[in-house]
Amino acid sequence: MSTKEKSLNFIEQIIEEDLKNGLPTEKLHFRFPPEPNGYLHIGHASSICLNFGLGLKYNAPVNLRFDDTNPSKEEQEFVDAIKQDVEWLGYKWANEVYASDYFQQLYDWAIQMIKDGKAYVDSQTSEVMAQQKGTPSTVGVDSPYRNRSIEENLDLFERMKNGEFEEGAHILRAKIDMSHKNMLMRDPIMYRIIKKAHHRTKDAWCIYPMYDWAHGESDYIESISHSFCTLEFLPHRELYDWFLDQVVTEDNIRPKQREFARRNLSHTVVSKRKLARLVSEGHVTAWDDPRMSTISGLRRRGYTAASIRNYADTIGIAKRDNLIDVSLLEFCIREDLNKIAPRVMAVLDPVKLVITNYPEGQEEWLDAENNPEEEVMTYRKVPFSKELYIEREDFKEEANSKFFRLTLGKEVRLKNAYIIKGESVVKDEHGNITEIHATYDADSRSGSGSEASKRKVKGTIHWVSAAHAVEAEVRIYDRLFVDENPDGNKEVDFLEFVNPNSLEIVKGYLEPSLSTAKEGDKFQFQRMGYFCVDKDSKPNQLVFNKTVGLRDTWAKVEQK
Ligand code: ATP
Ligand code: MG
Repeated sequence: MSTKEKSLNFIEQIIEEDLKNGLPTEKLHFRFPPEPNGYLHIGHASSICLNFGLGLKYNAPVNLRFDDTNPSKEEQEFVDAIKQDVEWLGYKWANEVYASDYFQQLYDWAIQMIKDGKAYVDSQTSEVMAQQKGTPSTVGVDSPYRNRSIEENLDLFERMKNGEFEEGAHILRAKIDMSHKNMLMRDPIMYRIIKKAHHRTKDAWCIYPMYDWAHGESDYIESISHSFCTLEFLPHRELYDWFLDQVVTEDNIRPKQREFARRNLSHTVVSKRKLARLVSEGHVTAWDDPRMSTISGLRRRGYTAASIRNYADTIGIAKRDNLIDVSLLEFCIREDLNKIAPRVMAVLDPVKLVITNYPEGQEEWLDAENNPEEEVMTYRKVPFSKELYIEREDFKEEANSKFFRLTLGKEVRLKNAYIIKGESVVKDEHGNITEIHATYDADSRSGSGSEASKRKVKGTIHWVSAAHAVEAEVRIYDRLFVDENPDGNKEVDFLEFVNPNSLEIVKGYLEPSLSTAKEGDKFQFQRMGYFCVDKDSKPNQLVFNKTVGLRDTWAKVEQK
C-alpha cells in the first residue's frame, strides 16, 4: 500500500474500490439529508464535512436534500436555518432538493408495487400490528389483511390519498416476509395518514411516505452514488436495498448505503429532539443560545466555520460510536482565534487603581499591539490616565514570592504602559478594598526605548482607563451539563444533568476602541479569554459572549 492509500478513511476506501471496479468518476454524487425538524448541531457538522468534503475531493456534486416526510414535526424555519448553517460552514450544494418533490413519483411506484402484489393496505390498530411483529427470536404473524385483492388494495390506497379516512385507520405496508430474521423486513410500513398541512406541499397530500420508503428512492431519483448515514441505519440497509430492487432499472446508478459512527460530544446532547426540549422547557433561550451544541449556537458563541471544519477533520470518521471530549472542540477554536482575534484590554471584575504621582487631568494615548501573530504588526491607541481599573484578582495586599501581580511595595508592568509600584489601599467600613494607590515610573513607558522601559519586572497586568472605559454586558458560560455524557444513562432523563450555573453575567469595562465593535466581531481580552459581540448588542449597549478561555487544557490531556 502506498502512503496515499493508507491515509484514506474507510469511506474513501469504499469509493476508491467502486472506482476501481468500473464506476466512472463522473457518476459520483453525494447528498446531505437533514430532516427539517430542528437546527443542525455539531454532530451534523461531521456528516456535512464528510459529504461535502468528498464532493470537493472527487469534484462531485453534493445535494442538500431535506427529508421532509413528516409534516407534524417539520417547519420552514428549520429549512431556512439549515441552509444558513451549511452555507456558513463554507459549502455549496449542487441542488437544493426535497423528498416532498418526489411524493407523486413515490406514490406512482407504490401503486405499481400494489399491482405487483408487493404492497397491501392493513387496517388494524398499530398496537395489534406491533404484537404481530414478533421478536428477534420469534417469527411474526401475518395480518388478516395481507391477502387482500389487488383491486381492494388499489381502491383503499386511493381513498387513503383522497382523505376519506382518519389517521390510523389504514396504512400501506410492503409485503416482504413476516418471519424474516431482520425485524425491519417484516412487512414494513410505507405510508401512513397524517392530516396536517406540509410546509411545502400544503394540503396536497394526507398520506406521507416513511423514511425507509422515501430515502433510498430519493437517492435513486437524484442518481446519488453513495448514501452515507449513521450506524443506526445499518439494519435498514437490507430494506433500503429491497425497496430499490422494486424500482431500479439501470444498475449503474444504483445508490449504495454505507454507515459511519454518530459523533457525540461530551457535556452536551446532539439530537434535535433533545435540543428542542432544552429550548421548549426554558433551559436555554433559543436554538442559537451560545450554550447549545447547535451550529448556530456555536457561531453566536464565537466559533468560526474554519474551527468547526478543523474539528470535524481532526476527529475524522469512525466505525464505532464514541464520545469526543468538548476540550478538543475548544482547542480548535482557540487555535483559530489565536491567529485572527485582535488583542484588547478589558476588566471584568474591577477595582480602582489610582496612580498618585500621575498629573491630574492628564491623558496619553499609548500604542498597543493588535495581534503578535500578525505578519506585519499593527497598532491601536489606548488611553492612559490617573485612574484606572484593574482586575480585582490581580492585586493582593500581602502575597508570597510566587505572586507576580500587583502587591504593596513591589513593581509590576501595566501592559502597553508603565511600571508601577503598589503603595497603599483604601478600604470601606467592611474592610473591602475600594482603591489601590500606586506610583509610576514616568520613564518606563513601553516602547519608549528608555533604559527604564527595558527594565524587567516579574509581572504584567492589564488595565483600562476608568474615565475612558466602555461598559458592556459580558456573558460567561460554563458547560450546559454537569455530566460528561448526560445522554448516557437511559434510566435518568438528560435534563436532570443540566448545569444550573451555566450562565454568569458580569459588567465589563473595556478599552474604548471596542465602542465600535459589531455583532460577530471577535477579540482576545488579554489574559481573560476570547470574546465576541452578541446579536443582543445595541448602540452604546454592547453585549459580549465568552467563547473560550485562554488555557489550553486539551494539550495537557494529550501530553499525559
Ligand atoms: P437528530 O437525532 O439530531 O435529529 P438525525 O440523524 O435524526 O439526528 P437528520 O436530520 O436525519 O438527523 O440527519 C441528517 C444527517 O446527519 C444524517 O445522515 C445523519 O446520519 C447525520 N447525523 C446526525 N447526527 C449525527 C451525528 N451526531 N454524527 C454524525 N452524523 C450525524
Ligand atoms: Mg431524525
